[in-house]
Amino acid sequence: RIVSAVAAELIDVRKTFGPTVALDRVSLRAYEGEVHAIIGGNGSGKSTLAKVISGVLVPDSGQVSIFGKTATNPSESKALGIANVYQEVLVADECSVLDNLFLGADGLFATAEPREDRYAKAQRILSDLLGFDLDPNAIVGELPLSIKQWITIARGMLTNPRLLILDESSAALDFEATERLFKKMREMKAKGCAIFIVTHRIAELVRIADRATVLRDGVSVGALSKDEITEENILHLIAGPERERA
Ligand code: ADP
Ligand code: MG
Repeated sequence: RIVSAVAAELIDVRKTFGPTVALDRVSLRAYEGEVHAIIGGNGSGKSTLAKVISGVLVPDSGQVSIFGKTATNPSESKALGIANVYQEVLVADECSVLDNLFLGADGLFATAEPREDRYAKAQRILSDLLGFDLDPNAIVGELPLSIKQWITIARGMLTNPRLLILDESSAALDFEATERLFKKMREMKAKGCAIFIVTHRIAELVRIADRATVLRDGVSVGALSKDEITEENILHLIAGPERERA
């Protein structure tokens, strides 16, 4: 059996916001060519963990290593091949789909490619993800939320990431659309990309995840491998011992 390379390793990560302990003693290991799910209830620290992995947030203590290196800001994170698709659907409503797709986190164009090349790339990825052709010149503000969400996903994928983080990225997608997203994720996996998905939809992650980290109140209460990822196991871990006794 070929052993996959480690893509991300976190050791004893702690992150606080004032009096709030968002993450405490969180350790995990994620591998190239795998989908690693981060799961937990509301406020359990999932998005904070996603941002710590992508270098947007620096932990108070503990270690974060991505492909053996540590990113401490968005541009270092980009250089490591990390793309974080944030939970908040961040689009510029007054701009075209095309401009939104190639807008970097800093609001500047993330590529020096000529417009024709960007246009062709945009057309390709949009029809692939949406299942129909969307005019890259359309103004984003007039489009439904599901398409805005697709634009944020496509924006992350267009950077050709080695590590992609999707934070609740199927929230505005229906079942069929989510299936198209999963198909694309499987293609990226096959090329060795490591993918984190953050979700609270358990049925979804059972279908796609190769590994999972379960958070409860900022603490990792489970590191599951593929065969341990069942709805029953996950619900037990999320609920915790108090509710099991009740
Ligand atoms: P989840 O994504 O699992 O819903 P979050 O990671 O967003 O959880 O939040 C974890 C905890 O940290 C929550 O209590 C939340 O209110 C708090 N938190 C997250 N981000 C911030 C922030 N920027 N400032 C203050 N508190 C925050
Ligand atoms: Mg969140």
